Amino acid sequence: MIRSASITTFLLILISATFYACGDDYPDDILLYTNATIWDGTESTAIENAALVTHNGTVLEIIEMNDPDFPEEAETVDLDGRYIVPGLINAHGHVGMADGLQTGSDIHSEENVIDQLKLYAAYGITTVVSLGDEPDEAFAVRDRGEFSENGMARLFLAGSVLNPSSADEAQSDVNQLMEQNPDWTKIRVDDGLGTREKMQPDVYSAVIEASHGHNTPLAAHIVQLEDAVGVVENGADLVAHSVRDNPIDRELTDLMLDSDICITPTLTREVSTYIYRDRPDFFDDSFFLAKADPNVLEELQQPDVQERYTGEAADYYRDQLPLAQENMMALHNSGVRVAMGTDSGPPARFQGYFEHMEMELMQDAGMTPIEVLTSATRYAAECMQIDENLGTLEPGKAADFLVVENNPLEDIRNLREIYGVYISGIQVPDVVN
Ligand SMILES: [Zn+2]
Repeated sequence: MIRSASITTFLLILISATFYACGDDYPDDILLYTNATIWDGTESTAIENAALVTHNGTVLEIIEMNDPDFPEEAETVDLDGRYIVPGLINAHGHVGMADGLQTGSDIHSEENVIDQLKLYAAYGITTVVSLGDEPDEAFAVRDRGEFSENGMARLFLAGSVLNPSSADEAQSDVNQLMEQNPDWTKIRVDDGLGTREKMQPDVYSAVIEASHGHNTPLAAHIVQLEDAVGVVENGADLVAHSVRDNPIDRELTDLMLDSDICITPTLTREVSTYIYRDRPDFFDDSFFLAKADPNVLEELQQPDVQERYTGEAADYYRDQLPLAQENMMALHNSGVRVAMGTDSGPPARFQGYFEHMEMELMQDAGMTPIEVLTSATRYAAECMQIDENLGTLEPGKAADFLVVENNPLEDIRNLREIYGVYISGIQVPDVVN
């Protein structure tokens, strides 16, 4: 609905893929990833003993190894029984806003943004939608593209989180933000657990309208049920966190279903508010330690730093985490699409690792592995209205995928044993496993 240019591109690719997608008609220089079990991200079941056929970083099709049309002459990468799933998409992250525990303009740099996109990619997160407060440098990196060539996750951005105090200001704030051509706009409707004024409905409805006037979807940070209802009623395009104060009700569910609005639960955001008051267990997890900065870990174990993760707010988010998980499941069970999103990127919300922790928390809350994977691939792509070529491995789409040792459709934790990560068919160097 938003980017007609990419829809045109998509149609062109679809036409050419349809042309190629039958045995003999393949172009000469195809590349096959063979002997794999492949789940393409759609409602189809995984195909065993199959090959992913790619050409120039695009998926042509998935073909069974014993298909009579199997192209015997083609260049192959033998995956020896491993598993292919679409690249993971974080529907709610943040890039470039922190370096270790430091924040502020001093740490803003393109290099920092690039390092973080490489970190996401190393953990199999091939796309991140950064929902707000990125430095200008992040826009420079996004606009340059070249993600796959540089082993970086693809990037979409929201820019400054808008906080106008009146409807008039809303329009001018949005106009100014649009100079950066953001993919999303973002607002916070939150009184900081009673510590500040909350954005009022007439103001947020004005921001939403102004954003839509620029064909840009809007994500709303909320904590409370009444605000989730309010923002969805007023046309917000994403509920950017779980409802944490009350069990969700029929009103919110119906509103979200009627307007086809998704939620990013950001369960690990809650974890990050309290977990460092003591030394967390994951500080011994090799999957975490592979990319963690030892200095940051050391800092997080200093008593004065641990102290920051105590207090009323931290206790509140800790105590409400089970409710956040229940509310996520209630929405999910009623048919609302949950898009995997973590809110990683601010200090001590570890990019890459937290996405795996998030998926594990989703599974622990009751989602099946395939539901979690759908949430982290197809739904994330659909909900975030990003490039139509992402989210599944259907013909014509980007060859963004993950190869893992064991079946993630049996246990989402199997996503940790990463064998390879590919973005547009280009292998990411130094993945974590
Ligand atoms: Zn956020």
